[in-house]
Amino acid sequence: MKQTLLFAPTLREIPKEAEAVSHQILLKGGYIKQLAAGVYTYLPLAYRIIRKIEDIVREELNKIGCTEFLMPTMQPKDLWVESGRWNDYGKELMRLSDRHDRDFCLGPTHEEVVTSLVRDFITSYKKLPLALYQIQTKFRDEFRPRFGLMRGREFIMKDLYTFHATEEDLDIWYHKVRKAYQNIFDRCDLHYRIVNAASGNIGGKHSEEFMILCDIGEDTIVYSDESDFASNTELCDLPVGAPSPDGKGHIKHAKGIEAGHIFKLGTKYSEPMKAYFVNQNQEQKPIIMGCYGIGISRLLMAILEQHYDGSKAIWPQEVAPYTIHIIPLEKEGSESFALAASLAQKLEQKYEVLFDDRDERPGVKFNDADLIGINNRIVVGKKASQGILEYKRLRDGLMIEFSNFEEIASYIEK
Ligand code: ATP
Ligand code: MG
Repeated sequence: MKQTLLFAPTLREIPKEAEAVSHQILLKGGYIKQLAAGVYTYLPLAYRIIRKIEDIVREELNKIGCTEFLMPTMQPKDLWVESGRWNDYGKELMRLSDRHDRDFCLGPTHEEVVTSLVRDFITSYKKLPLALYQIQTKFRDEFRPRFGLMRGREFIMKDLYTFHATEEDLDIWYHKVRKAYQNIFDRCDLHYRIVNAASGNIGGKHSEEFMILCDIGEDTIVYSDESDFASNTELCDLPVGAPSPDGKGHIKHAKGIEAGHIFKLGTKYSEPMKAYFVNQNQEQKPIIMGCYGIGISRLLMAILEQHYDGSKAIWPQEVAPYTIHIIPLEKEGSESFALAASLAQKLEQKYEVLFDDRDERPGVKFNDADLIGINNRIVVGKKASQGILEYKRLRDGLMIEFSNFEEIASYIEK
């Protein structure tokens, strides 16, 4: 990809409204552009990262037997009246009416729609279990949209719903999804804790949150310094240094932001919405459900919040917008530029390469490269005519000089 064709409108000044470093980098580097409070355009760099996060999520969910589909954003009021949430959800629900004065909302989540779907088709235990997910734009009229993509009013979420004939089967799936989530967060190179949580607006019996530890987090979590014990302070408010309730280690506090949430819903929706099936004993029973969310756009910013150095981004390999950044220091027409171009062409057959072909001074190119944060950087400068290419790995600052591109290619491969 030629950088002249990449639309990443960078800013010189750090925008005042951006408190978090990740937010500053996203605005400065031309990743996102605000349209209204809590409403953003994902420019090409951000959108590439989002697609990579989505692909990781898809891979891990497909692996455990989940199937992707897509439900409508527009949801009729009637369904929300049936579940009791047309009133309960309050002002966060974005409401609208059509030309015939029929009321709708823009989906903040999809329990109602998915429950109405399965009640029409799943009538027997023979059709269970079932696990359906979608990746879609959600709408919530947040009281205080904040920190850019962290708390938007329009944001991308992955929501998975599972359906079961028995509680035991829900437990099995809950744990499968939990493990898949761990894989997803690990692949995004995130430092996180799984905490017991209050179920909030969505309700249900048991739920856990995947909290990403970072200073701009709006929640406080208590956790043990020696075990997996962790909880939201809403549920368990222990002071720092207290013995952990599981008997292992002592309590610490940390700020965190919720990036994923898994719930055992039970029959909270199937009961009032009459989604029944016939079990093995020929009895009518409400379908037992689980639901599981991941904030894809929030994750983008959370990953950056854990992967910057000063004002530079350093994206984890699996979600980086490109794999290799090639930066020629001399202008088009020079021998070293031509060399860089042919190197880019060759590496592009195998990797996602960003080639800085812009007519800019090296200082400008390096500044922008630091905002784009691609871990593998190849600088093609004056030494190139003697056959020397400089490789820099951002993650640890490692620098190596290579004398030909095959060497670089095989090095990056490793
Ligand atoms: P929060 O406590 O942060 O408001 P929530 O409990 O309302 O989150 P869920 O209803 O569980 O969130 O939604 C699933 C996931 O969607 C969350 O784990 C989070 O990653 C993401 N999410 C929720 N609200 C927003 C938002 N306003 N902007 C971006 N992502 C969000
Ligand atoms: Mg919320």
